[in-house]
Amino acid sequence: MTWQTPLTPLEISVAAASLEGRSPAEVLRWAADRFAPRIALATGFGEEGCVIVDLIARERLPIGVFTLDTGLLFPETYDLWRRLEARYGIPIRAVRPALTLEEQAAAHGPALWERDPDRCCEIRKVAPLRAALRGLDAWVTAIRREQTPDRAGAAPVEWDRKFGLVKVNPLVRWTGADVRAYVHANGVPRNPLHERGYPSIGCWPCTSPVAAGEDPRAGRWRGSAKKECGLHSRKGSETARPLIGAPERS
Ligand code: SF4
Repeated sequence: MTWQTPLTPLEISVAAASLEGRSPAEVLRWAADRFAPRIALATGFGEEGCVIVDLIARERLPIGVFTLDTGLLFPETYDLWRRLEARYGIPIRAVRPALTLEEQAAAHGPALWERDPDRCCEIRKVAPLRAALRGLDAWVTAIRREQTPDRAGAAPVEWDRKFGLVKVNPLVRWTGADVRAYVHANGVPRNPLHERGYPSIGCWPCTSPVAAGEDPRAGRWRGSAKKECGLHSRKGSETARPLIGAPERS
């Protein structure tokens, strides 16, 4: 069976405009109404992702949750994963790479992240995400505009050309202070590494603490020009997409 993607470019533009001033809960409710059950949140357990898990549970929204388990997460992150499931009663599905760490080392050499982090991220994050998104019409992310220059143009809802589905960004307008205020007001579980100088946490080989005054993401791939895993490149997203040539799924 073949069918067109579920929103037209005009509908995406209209939705993005109408959701621009709405709260994250309102954006999530709209997304659940529009896409469930073919929608899921991908979280890496940053504070923002934990806030969205809280909102999904609080609003009882039919939005699944998964995480990319690279096998290289900090022990504190694995512990947070278990605490979130226990607190909210929501299963958080593990999406894992095709290659174990041992298989990756055998195929590409040891510590690929030191020699070719883009390749490592492709194997351990991007390809598994692509597989996880197959069959969905929309995914929810925790990106915020102020996080990186690349994310500054993100909309509450947009077309993700890279992965071929709608991308919903409910926290897009929030500042870091907004996130922290929500976390503290609602007792949202968080990673204890945040208190030890890690505002942004990914895989342990590629995450270091940041000094006072540094950019919060300065500890990610420190010493490298790399700033993104390849999951949220703005080159692949837009609030509208060309009607002609719109992708079909089969
Ligand atoms: S963040 Fe580092 S260890 Fe994790 S997948 Fe990317 S390159 Fe590999």
